[in-house]
Amino acid sequence: MRIASGGIQHETNTFSTTPTTLADFIRDSQLGPQLEGGNAIIRRYAGTGSIHGGYIDAAQAAGLELIPLLTAMACPAGVVVQQAFDTILGWFLERLENVLPVDGMLLDLHGAMVTEDYQDAEGAFIDAVRKLVGRDMPIVVTLDLHANITEQMARLADVIIGFDTYPHIDMNERGCEAVELLARIVRGQVSPIQAYRKLPLITMPPMQCTLREPMQSLML
Ligand SMILES: [Zn+2]
Repeated sequence: MRIASGGIQHETNTFSTTPTTLADFIRDSQLGPQLEGGNAIIRRYAGTGSIHGGYIDAAQAAGLELIPLLTAMACPAGVVVQQAFDTILGWFLERLENVLPVDGMLLDLHGAMVTEDYQDAEGAFIDAVRKLVGRDMPIVVTLDLHANITEQMARLADVIIGFDTYPHIDMNERGCEAVELLARIVRGQVSPIQAYRKLPLITMPPMQCTLREPMQSLML
């Protein structure tokens, strides 16, 4: 089973006047000037408590071939410059096209990225991938707990998995969960269906901590 992986992560503060540029992604990702894929990503993330660390661990344990294409991240700041997003997405799609056919996709996204043109940048990212791979290719998306999930994201992905804990200490586990679930979808053992409903609620970030109440009891 061949699984392609990658994504772009940014937590955008739309009140910040400091734009997030391609140079920011290149500096913070530490994967070279063209955000190198393949073994560079495996060397960078293997054995770490990150989403890609989980992808790598679980793929190895299950004997799956993981093909990491590109993973870009930049520290939280202002709106992402459109050209930066388009460049990274272009590299991602080009590399994906070069490795097709694959059996499934793992997208490592944050879920709170805004670019100059897209309020829902993750929705735009998943849409571009979906257009390239077609409706039948299983796509499992992992997101931060602080994601702004949209109807578009839920409709275009087969499964969305968010972190359970805050602080985010379960990234590796959620990455493993994504691989295991994707493998079951590819084998035809399960076919998950997502439904989207937005509740009229805003939760207060300091009270979301899962180490104390009221969230602690919900984790048991
Ligand atoms: Zn978060």
